Amino acid sequence: MKKILQDLSYAELEEKVLSLGEKKFRAKQLYEGLMQGKAITAITSLSKAFKERLCEEYEDAPIRIKEKYVSLDGTEKYLFEYADGNLVEGVLMKYKYGYTQCVSTQIGCRMGCKFCASTLGGLVRNLTSGEILSQILLVNALHKEDVPKQGAQTRAVTNVVLMGSGEPLDNYDEVLKFLKNVTADGGVCISARNISLSTCGIVPKMYRLADEGIPLNLTVSLHATDDESRARTMPIAKAYKISEILKACEYYFKKTGRRYYFEYTLIEGENCDEEHARALIDLLKGKPCHVNLIRLNEVKERTLKSTDDKAAYRFLGMLEKGGLSATLRRQIGVDIGGACGQLRASYIEKNGV
Ligand code: SAH
Repeated sequence: MKKILQDLSYAELEEKVLSLGEKKFRAKQLYEGLMQGKAITAITSLSKAFKERLCEEYEDAPIRIKEKYVSLDGTEKYLFEYADGNLVEGVLMKYKYGYTQCVSTQIGCRMGCKFCASTLGGLVRNLTSGEILSQILLVNALHKEDVPKQGAQTRAVTNVVLMGSGEPLDNYDEVLKFLKNVTADGGVCISARNISLSTCGIVPKMYRLADEGIPLNLTVSLHATDDESRARTMPIAKAYKISEILKACEYYFKKTGRRYYFEYTLIEGENCDEEHARALIDLLKGKPCHVNLIRLNEVKERTLKSTDDKAAYRFLGMLEKGGLSATLRRQIGVDIGGACGQLRASYIEKNGV
């Protein structure tokens, strides 16, 4: 597989362009074209010879859309294909204040969470920073027309969540580079405050991330209130205790001044009775955090069941009464199916890739 130019920062791209004997301003033209989601050969401001030279070394386009589904509520689900034929999925959610894109950071995942489809086939490979960025570049390009013509806004995607397939902190260096490039001035320029990174709780990497001083929203997938129950659905719980996760979150708050978030997927008979609400309140009360409750998206290969709406709202009510800041995540795009990894898993099953 060839390298991709989207992996390079502006400074690195400039260096590359100069090393090929081209003028400095060509780097700007190239960067602008790439940030508009264009393939190298589609950038009209560059000479054919220069583009051919670049294509000897780099993929013309790192990613393409294999399948796209649009929900009745406007949510879009994508199956992307990389140059080596690997597939990942992404979701675009349309809100009044802008578009939020859910991106994948790995092909597959090795964390083994029992409720998650991304992990069914294990980890295939890490995505590079540019491969992650390309998911956004492509979706932005498809929605060029949606961007208001006036004002400084030049892109459709205003918010990003690293909640697609993969564990972002298991691909730390590439994810960090992605964060730097996606927030860089002159590029897609998404504010770090509009980016949420979700982790299953790899504690040492949470500290490392806090030390980077990037003011993004840190979200931890908790899904249980004690280590033993957590380990039943999340193997990572055997490596790091909830108490260690909470300490790392406090550190994150101290370093960045940002409150942190917990995701709590409601699993019938497992984590959403009154005793769990009480335990969650004891664990988190008074901390600068917010709890996002998620209804389990049932995965056919797994036996875990979702709660009904009534039980979900009752659980939310108990948390609020106990003084926690909490919300029950609205279910969007349900008609186009799919928890993390489901689209890829069903495509692979159907097509035997
Ligand atoms: N690896 C990261 C990002 C994964 S996905 C993490 O663990 O946080 C984002 C969220 O979706 C996580 O909270 C994850 O636990 C949750 N999730 C995964 N599969 C799910 C399912 N089938 N139903 C509901 N939530 C799910």
